[in-house]
Amino acid sequence: MLPDSNIPSGALEQKWSSYRSTMKVVAPANKRKFQIIIIGTGLAGASAAASLAELGYQVKSFCIQDSPRRAHSVAAQGGINAAKNYQNDADTTWRLFYDTIKGGDYRSREANVYRLAEVSVNIIDQCVAQGVPFAREYGGLLANRSFGGVQVSRTFYARGQTGQQLLLGAYSAMMRQVVSGQIELYPNREMLDLVVIDGKARGIVCRDLYNGTIESYAADAVVLATGGYANVFYLSTNGMNSNVTASWRCYKRGAYFSNPCYTQIHPTCIPVSGDYQSKLTLMSESLRNDGRIWVPKKPGDKRPPNEIPESERDYYLERRYPTFANLVPRDVASRAAKAVCDEGRGAGETGLSVYLDFSDTIARVGEDFLRDKYGNLFDMYERITGEDPYRVPMRIYPASHYVMGGLWVDYNLMSSMPGLFVLGEANFSDHGANRLGASALMQGLADGYFIIPYTLGTYLAGAELRNTSADSTEFKETEANIKNRIDTLLAIKGNKTPVDFHRELGKVMWNDVGMARNKSGLEHALAEIPKLREEFWQNLTLGGDDSHFNKNLELAGRVADFLELGELIARDALGREESCGAHFREEHQSPDGEAIRDDKNFSYVSAWEYNGDDAAPTLNKEALNHEFVKPTQRSYK
Ligand SMILES: Cc1cc2nc3c(=O)[nH]c(=O)nc-3n(C[C@H](O)[C@H](O)[C@H](O)COP(=O)(O)OP(=O)(O)OC[C@H]3O[C@@H](n4cnc5c(N)ncnc54)[C@H](O)[C@@H]3O)c2cc1C
Repeated sequence: MLPDSNIPSGALEQKWSSYRSTMKVVAPANKRKFQIIIIGTGLAGASAAASLAELGYQVKSFCIQDSPRRAHSVAAQGGINAAKNYQNDADTTWRLFYDTIKGGDYRSREANVYRLAEVSVNIIDQCVAQGVPFAREYGGLLANRSFGGVQVSRTFYARGQTGQQLLLGAYSAMMRQVVSGQIELYPNREMLDLVVIDGKARGIVCRDLYNGTIESYAADAVVLATGGYANVFYLSTNGMNSNVTASWRCYKRGAYFSNPCYTQIHPTCIPVSGDYQSKLTLMSESLRNDGRIWVPKKPGDKRPPNEIPESERDYYLERRYPTFANLVPRDVASRAAKAVCDEGRGAGETGLSVYLDFSDTIARVGEDFLRDKYGNLFDMYERITGEDPYRVPMRIYPASHYVMGGLWVDYNLMSSMPGLFVLGEANFSDHGANRLGASALMQGLADGYFIIPYTLGTYLAGAELRNTSADSTEFKETEANIKNRIDTLLAIKGNKTPVDFHRELGKVMWNDVGMARNKSGLEHALAEIPKLREEFWQNLTLGGDDSHFNKNLELAGRVADFLELGELIARDALGREESCGAHFREEHQSPDGEAIRDDKNFSYVSAWEYNGDDAAPTLNKEALNHEFVKPTQRSYK
């Protein structure tokens, strides 16, 4: 059964502050008695580690990469939202809250989202104090730009490297605590299981990726900040190491998995160029501030873009959505791009791309303006495609990018497993069925800097935790299971690599569970994925052994988990007989191709409960209570 979501009562604006005033706390001298494990050193994990250690807790921090600074957050380009209203354009906490609720197509919890908007302003102050070099206006005030789905400028940025700069800030704060002995760092470690004692999360078992040693660590609470699972689509904009393994193993230990089918396809990525590509590259949404998106009006028009006259171009977003135009939210922009390409009007050889054209901006304010704002993105585009976007329009196409789904958490960010907290992209908490641009960094840092420091304390202050250690039977049994699984993988000796299986899974996911979904496609996926999974366990090949660095072995474990998750995503999508946000069921659309929600039957968060490998999972439903914003038809016209 789904636990209480623990949303405080009272006025929306007062919930968080009155809750903080009355919650249980751990006295300063007692904090050092508690051991906290944090998995992940992206923005969510690094900010949590720094904040909890600063409070006095004993923290152990784990990540896959050889340095915490290499977490996937480093790739974030465009910016981070905050309701500072520096632009004097009528931004408020309420407006950020409202935009996020509407952007998520009324499928998120109001109380969580309001708190996010509320603490957004503190994040910017915190980062500035750390020395994050946000772009500034001439007068010295921090600069802002706009992202999709909003009509104000509230996005703070550091050129096209916002994630990197924010991560350096969080990393510095974390390293201060490493030096002072409050944090122990464990890089090159992959968490492979959660250890549950008396129904509570009490530790982890992980593998040293350099020498294969299986290690156990006990703690009083475990904080998961392991990022998103967009790589289930194989080709995505995510870092190659992004995966679902930590979340998935927690799901199999009893934590519920929410809204797995809410996966975000980003409209502005460099198009796929060949069968053996392993990665897609994002061109930040911020470019839509200054670029105009178009395709030829005539199907099959293969003239170079500069030879197509103005009168023969279709600026389809400006035409269909005059109010938000090129800055419609991602789900809307992605579907619109797919629609024009499906009509045969796509650009480039494959016909699977649209133009993002900067010529009007160059004519108006000159190239240097673009160079200042997005120089590194333009350089990156040119290096990958060989085309100069200052002269020729960029070609872009939607790609898998982010996931709104993740482990279920209550208002305290605690999962359905007591003692297991989930932060950042790994939880489902704030973005409903579609995330607005520049809101993931905001959420990760809100979770790590401003929410978990309070809510973890209230759990520890009330929890009854018996003494345990990494030598206890529960840890030893978990270690044995992991060794057994690794031996099984190595012993298969088949013909296909983990990447072969991953690529095949990705094709099924993209074709049947991607930008547009329908009943027969989803049923096809539900039939294909188990077959692929069965083949995986019979026909996998891995070189090397388990006592050295073995990338294929690492990947095999992650692909095995993706092969299970893919099925849950399809199951969730099949059951949700409505279109909402990024979940677009072709059966539920208006004559002009807009999503049609069914609030009467589907205004809930799905929370899937694992029942064993051979049994179907149980669907629990958390009803969404829209007390403050009445759901209406989401329109950007
Ligand atoms: C190209 C790109 C650009 C983006 N730009 C923006 C932007 O401009 N603005 C915005 O708001 N959002 C942006 N996003 C989204 C945003 O970057 C992510 O949602 C966010 O950084 C996720 O942060 P996180 O801390 O939750 O996880 P991550 O940064 O993904 O970190 C995950 C951490 O968990 C560790 N980990 C994972 N599994 C394990 C395991 N089993 N064992 C041990 N460690 C593990 C990893 O090593 C890593 O340290 C972008 C995303 C992409 C792909």
